[in-house]
Formats: sequence, structure tokens, C-alpha cells
Amino acid sequence: MKRRAVFLDRDGVLIEEQSYIKTLDEMNIYPFTSDCIKKLHQAGFLAIVITNQSGVARGYLTEETLKQMNTKLKEEIGVDDIFYCPHYSKGVIAKYSFNCMCRKPNIGMIEKACDKYEIDLSRSYFIGDRKTDIETGKNAGVKTILLRTGYGKADEAVSNFDYACDDLRNAVNICISGLGEKEK
Ligand SMILES: [Zn+2]
Repeated sequence: MKRRAVFLDRDGVLIEEQSYIKTLDEMNIYPFTSDCIKKLHQAGFLAIVITNQSGVARGYLTEETLKQMNTKLKEEIGVDDIFYCPHYSKGVIAKYSFNCMCRKPNIGMIEKACDKYEIDLSRSYFIGDRKTDIETGKNAGVKTILLRTGYGKADEAVSNFDYACDDLRNAVNICISGLGEKEK
């Protein structure tokens, strides 16, 4: 049977937003993240991270460091998988500098996740703090939740989300209950 998934942005959702996190030490996981992922699993959701990491193309960190961050994140919060796009058309590292169909708001990473797992998109969610996250969710045909953590306060006015809430804890409750505190 196909499973429901919650697709999660990384920065400003699972960990504190800082512009371009470059080292493992800069990765501050919110204190509630691990419990939220547990709750999603108990409710039968896959928890899959979908993240643009153009810092690699911009030369701020290596893909190797990013992979180490992913390993740490999987160990500490128990997400099922992490899909990342290190590309950016105006980057400085040639290998990563092109227009990628994975980069949000494109849905390449969600398609990869669907190739790897049996996912019922019609019963799945995208949770993010940016307009691009909401657009990605819309493009993939899942319900969207904007968080007011990270950039969410600024992007709330310009994003066409299904629900908005203060942080991941509220969003997880929306996914589990199917109810929202605010519907647009
Ligand atoms: Zn890419």
C-alpha cells in the first residue's frame, strides 16, 4: 500500500535558519524536531527532507560536508531520507553551476523520492518556511504548510499555502489530524 509522506524543508524548519550553514557546528536542531518526526512515524507518515543547498555551488561548503550534515541529521532526528540539490545556475563551482530540475520550486527531488518509496501524494504534505517550499508542494500536488519560523514571517504574506502555523509542532498536528488552524 502506498504511504503518506511529509516532505520537510531543512533550514528554518528542522534546524535554525542561518544564511548558509557551512559547518556541522552551525547546525542547531530545534529542541522539538526529534519528537515531531517520531509523531509522524507513529501516524504512519514517511518523513523526507527536501532541501536546496546552493551553498555547494556557491563554494561555501563542500558536498562532502553536506553529506556529513545529512548523516548527523538522520542519526539525531530519525528522518527517513534526505534529498538535496547542491546546484545553482550562477554558482562559482563549475561542476554544480547549472539550472537543475531538482532545485525547488521544481519537483525533481519529490519525483526521486517517489521513485524510491511508494508514496500517495494525494495524502501527503510539504512543510516549509519559504514561498518556494509552498510552490514546490503545489507543483507536486500535495497539501502545503507554511511555518512562521525561519523566513516564514516574511513569506506568509506572499505565499499561497493551505495552512500556516507557528512551528513544526503545530504543523505535525495538522498532518496527523488533517485539520488546520488557518485555511486559505
Ligand atoms: Zn540539483
